[in-house]
Amino acid sequence: MKYGRVYNFSAGPAMMPEPVLEEIAAEVMNYRGSGMSVMEMSQRSAAFQKIRDDAEADLRELMRIPDNYRVMFVQGGGTLQFSMVPMNLLRNGTACYVESGAWSQKALAEAKRYGNVIVSASSADDNFSYVPDCSALDIPADADYVYICENETIHGTTFYRLPETHGKPLVSDQSSMFLSRPCDASRYGLIFAGVQKNVGPAGMVIVIMREDLIRGDLDPKVPVYLRYKTHADNDSMYNTPNCWSLYCCGKVFRYLLDIGGLEEMERRNREKAAILYDFLDNSAFFRATAAKSDRSLMNVPFVTPSPEQDAKVVAASKAAGFENLKGHKSVGGLRASIFNAMPKEGVEALVAFLDKYEKAHK
Ligand SMILES: *Cc1c(COP(=O)(O)O)cnc(C)c1O
Repeated sequence: MKYGRVYNFSAGPAMMPEPVLEEIAAEVMNYRGSGMSVMEMSQRSAAFQKIRDDAEADLRELMRIPDNYRVMFVQGGGTLQFSMVPMNLLRNGTACYVESGAWSQKALAEAKRYGNVIVSASSADDNFSYVPDCSALDIPADADYVYICENETIHGTTFYRLPETHGKPLVSDQSSMFLSRPCDASRYGLIFAGVQKNVGPAGMVIVIMREDLIRGDLDPKVPVYLRYKTHADNDSMYNTPNCWSLYCCGKVFRYLLDIGGLEEMERRNREKAAILYDFLDNSAFFRATAAKSDRSLMNVPFVTPSPEQDAKVVAASKAAGFENLKGHKSVGGLRASIFNAMPKEGVEALVAFLDKYEKAHK
């Protein structure tokens, strides 16, 4: 890799495309003749307005977002959405959650502060190693929405089929899979994604929301910043947005359009994931932990025969220049996050390393 960079398998903040980083570096002292960097620029300036408008337009083109959906750039990460979703969407006071791993658990625990939470399906019985069947969920007539975490970053599972919601708005946390494959936004009421996993610098979350779900008649105690209406009515400029993250994310949207859009991104992601899963499936030492039918293309948790061996592999991989392969502390083992920006060469190099390690430790 150029510049002495390493293959970074972090679950986030994670790698960004090298051509994007080079462009940012070239513009950091003087953004297109403005005499200043984007970090130093008023959010009300014409140059920044254009950055914001282009970012939204490019994202809309990339995902083919329908006109009756609003795009918002909000701060507070994915975590604040765990609160904003129930604060804004509960009317009758009941919501259905699919419990498929640590991130959906966090979201449903937060929603319980605001209303009645029904766990409509769960895979807790097998350590969240699979996505529960959501083809026939029991959803009460007064439920305000159905919530999923579409890619569980820690457990390495992903939804390949969306739940049947019987007309209720589907809310999806796409933080760790956003823009990794084509997505039909019209099937959702609200999509949100913290950008630091698959897009750009931490500190921003993108919300894509069906217009008719944006309400003004909330409890007066709901803070102004936590109302989707505030962001929608002000084109995400009610207060100073995360200008830097927005600028960098905009460059990634442009980059994705230039390489051929989300169809091409999915093709590359499938190719990369297959290289790693094929190796793990044929290994006598390493084993992928997620159910085959639900395996994430982005986060690949795997184990050796023992936690002691796991730790040894992590140490050896770090010494060999592979960063952040330690599994999340709650599940142990190893995890390779191979987001959009991880090159195929990085996955091939990792597999070559693991293969050599296995042969040496037989
Ligand atoms: C990382 C992550 C979050 C939390 O993101 P923050 O920006 O740290 O709040 C939420 N959901 C999923 C699926 C994640 O992977």
